[in-house]
Amino acid sequence: MIRFIAYHTGYVENCTVAVMVYQCGFFGHLGYASVKEAWLEFTKDIYAKYFDDVLSVRIPTNDCCKTASMLGSGHNSAEMREKYRVCEKCNTELKERPFDAEEFMDYFSNLRKDTCDSYGDAEDTSSRNLCWWPFWTKDFIGASKEQILYLGEYAELTLLNALYELHPELITEKEKYRGHSSDWELIKQNIKPNI
Ligand SMILES: [Zn+2]
Repeated sequence: MIRFIAYHTGYVENCTVAVMVYQCGFFGHLGYASVKEAWLEFTKDIYAKYFDDVLSVRIPTNDCCKTASMLGSGHNSAEMREKYRVCEKCNTELKERPFDAEEFMDYFSNLRKDTCDSYGDAEDTSSRNLCWWPFWTKDFIGASKEQILYLGEYAELTLLNALYELHPELITEKEKYRGHSSDWELIKQNIKPNI
């Protein structure tokens, strides 16, 4: 049963020294029997957070549009997305922010630099009650290896690969040539990397 996800981001010399640890027990999840399900649920969590924090923020055209951009951010419902689609002062439509794979991976990698305060929503987002929680690693101490899904490096690419399985519509022409994460190749077969 997977109850913890521990990972490093970055590749080779860029691999982070510090490890990030998430647990699912805090929200009452007993754990995941499937390695793939554990990672996909984690991917859904991070994407939901990224959507609220980044993707939902429409690009203001004029200074006056910043208010609509701010008020419209952090919402996933079609109704709220529509409500702040146009600036009420200049009547300009605010542009949707396109999904950017590098930005998504950077967003994820930079979560390790956050404080408890700056991390933002850790329990739910506008579209999802989160499953994985990044605080209180005390529970991690003494956990058995069987309970841990551990990624030794480059977790951001493994996350992106999983996101593309969940949302193939996000794959652009350029992205089709991106390399695959070897950890993802194992995880999608329900095999833990780095055993
Ligand atoms: Zn405006």
